[in-house]
Amino acid sequence: MTRITNHMPTRELQALDAAHHMHPFTDDGALARKGARIITRGRGVWLTDSEGHEILDAMAGLWCVNIGYGRREIAEIAARQMEELCYYNTFFQTSHVPAIALATKIAELAPGDLNHVFYAGSGSEANDTNIRLVRRYWDLKGQPERTVIISRRNAYHGSTMGGASLGGMAGMHAQGGLPIPGIVHIGQPDWWSEGGDMTPAEFGLARARELENKIREIGPERVAAFIGEPIQGAGGVIVPPETYWPEIQRICDDYGILLIADEVITGFGRTGNWFGSQTMGIRPHIMTIAKGLSSGYAPIGGSIVCDEVAGTIAAAGEDFNHGYTYCGHPVAASVALKNLEILEEERIIDHVRDVAHPYLAEKWQGLTAHPLVGEAKLVGLMGSIALTPDKERRARFASEPGTVGYRCRERCFANDLVMRHVGDRMIIAPPLVITPEEIDIFIERATKSLDECYAGLKADGLLRAA
Ligand code: PMP
Repeated sequence: MTRITNHMPTRELQALDAAHHMHPFTDDGALARKGARIITRGRGVWLTDSEGHEILDAMAGLWCVNIGYGRREIAEIAARQMEELCYYNTFFQTSHVPAIALATKIAELAPGDLNHVFYAGSGSEANDTNIRLVRRYWDLKGQPERTVIISRRNAYHGSTMGGASLGGMAGMHAQGGLPIPGIVHIGQPDWWSEGGDMTPAEFGLARARELENKIREIGPERVAAFIGEPIQGAGGVIVPPETYWPEIQRICDDYGILLIADEVITGFGRTGNWFGSQTMGIRPHIMTIAKGLSSGYAPIGGSIVCDEVAGTIAAAGEDFNHGYTYCGHPVAASVALKNLEILEEERIIDHVRDVAHPYLAEKWQGLTAHPLVGEAKLVGLMGSIALTPDKERRARFASEPGTVGYRCRERCFANDLVMRHVGDRMIIAPPLVITPEEIDIFIERATKSLDECYAGLKADGLLRAA
């Protein structure tokens, strides 16, 4: 068997990758021609690739490596747990210490009466669990017709059949006959792109009231839950106007429907609090968690469930017929617990709130002086900038949406910076441990990339508005 190592030439690794590895959310044909960038090492906010480039990762992987790459304590805990008990399940009336300890810790950190954890292997799985949980809950409450879940267009809730259905990504729905029945979508609170002549406050209210209209249209007795990311991540780091969440909360309360906050990105410090629900002032019945729960060191996710829902399911007198082999996996759970200890003991969320956010916020806002940048948003350490050919009009480019964003991302890559693009918005979510010195390097590389992108657009006649 060929031994494949870090020391192989990049081109050979790329060829094997193209031959045998199907990539998620990728045009594999195009990638095979270009060759994947191969990442070999991570330390703090820095990645190294197979060519020896030192790359600043302003996306924390996929929004997950909150404590930064390469923490030895986590590796040690994982090794110890693998020796002690590498695996056991939590079905059939058994449990184990890592699952118990982590659930206890999560219940302590989560606000209000969110005291119960149903584990999953990922955010997608956890959202599938949520569909099962809320339907089961209403069935047990004697309202089995309450099955419909309302979500939003351009939301991201995962890539399983349930997760992708809850999500509102048109490109995902188009492949595979989604959404599954019983899931409907309303508009998103994206003022920059869709707010027209309304003020942000007016638009926030208008979009929230789409929920009320949809509930009335379906019939309140048929609606089980509303799901939303406190701040949409994969949709482009869309920060809703201040009027939005209070109105959504009021509507959920008035109609007695369950509120699910998908905290997969916003959880565990990303917004400057433990949870994005705290930052946005909402009181969910269920939270979806993953990513920052383990800082990506091991795959783990889950649903944090309130007393009422968990209590109703526990009092059913029969099994909840749902679970995954890796629910509460002991190695992943120990890793997650250690990650939470590090977040707490090193006061990393205080660092986000008091140091990194204020330092970055000023520079991030400063990017709006660049001719390409229309608006800049930053909550805690998740942010976005809108690229536009005409700031006054909040205009789109005449080119296919995403053309300019893609070109900007390519310039970032060339400058050893990971920023992602969603359409023509650039988004960031760096590791929470990023220092002011690293923020300076980040902004320097981002500015250089924007300048190069601008020059390229100009040269190619692409600065035109739609
Ligand atoms: N929900 C949200 C808000 C997410 O951002 C993601 C992943 N980007 C998911 C769910 C799905 O998580 P996973 O990829 O771990 O299945």
